[in-house]
Amino acid sequence: MPRIDLHTHTTASDGSFSPEDLVRLAKQQGVTALAVTDHDSVAGLSRALAEGQRLGVEIIPGIEISCLYEDIELHILGYFINPEDPLLHRTLAGYLASRDERNPRIVERLRALGCDITYEEVKSLAGAATIGRPHIAKVLVRKGYVRSVTEAFDRYLADGGPAYVARVLPTPEEAIGLIRQVGGLPVLAHPVYASRLKEPIEQVCATLKRFGLAGIETIYSSHTPQQTDHYRQVARDLGLLVTGGSDFHGDSKPNLLVGTGYGGLEVPADLLEPMRAVVKDHPSP
Ligand code: AMP
Ligand code: ZN
Ligand code: FE
Ligand code: FE
Repeated sequence: MPRIDLHTHTTASDGSFSPEDLVRLAKQQGVTALAVTDHDSVAGLSRALAEGQRLGVEIIPGIEISCLYEDIELHILGYFINPEDPLLHRTLAGYLASRDERNPRIVERLRALGCDITYEEVKSLAGAATIGRPHIAKVLVRKGYVRSVTEAFDRYLADGGPAYVARVLPTPEEAIGLIRQVGGLPVLAHPVYASRLKEPIEQVCATLKRFGLAGIETIYSSHTPQQTDHYRQVARDLGLLVTGGSDFHGDSKPNLLVGTGYGGLEVPADLLEPMRAVVKDHPSP
């Protein structure tokens, strides 16, 4: 069975590979279909689509939208979205504004904690990308305050950490609704992170399904086989699709490769047909 990967990042958000380099690496890894799912951005999609066409790798235009479920951040993947959709562009511009408001405040906190970095340094490192905490983490590494991005998150930047500042996030209903409105298929990313919620995952997914959720990212780089089985059962019980992906970011997640994750990831290509069928059944308004 050919291998696919439905969760990857590029330099359009916090990945370190350009869209073209990501597609080339995916091809080398034997990936036949690749979803490019940058955080709150569709800026890498046209370049990925062009490279995919050149190399014969199917590119599924995607996105990963952060939202707040109670007080915990959940990520919703959207597949088969139209990258040109004006409503999508307007909404993403609003998300960007909330990042621009929050990111300098994180830097201020870091300065108060004794890390002498500036927001200018973060912006120059990020270039044209949607700025996220991983960019701030890389500046901390570069300036010697921590040894790795992971250490930066552990010591300062993780949710609830000493330099963490929440940004205004959409509700799950808004994030899922937006993906539906632009013709996409909404899927709960890395359900293992939802285990921080007080509610059991079954209940979370049932609620998200009422908002229009279509699937669960059952197969994920850091899931144990037991977790994968559990999420597969949740998807089956609720009539949700099973999807899977690596969450490849390049340098900021060392040892994690597109297609194979930490080595044992295997996302079978036959998961795609049921996804396509749902998109066809519910064409965008
Ligand atoms: P932001 O989008 O600015 O809120 O940053 C969140 C992003 O940081 C996530 O989507 C991940 O890509 C990344 N991230 C979160 N925790 C870690 C961690 N412990 N190590 C490396 N990257 C992380
Ligand atoms: Zn990321
Ligand atoms: Fe995520
Ligand atoms: Fe991701």
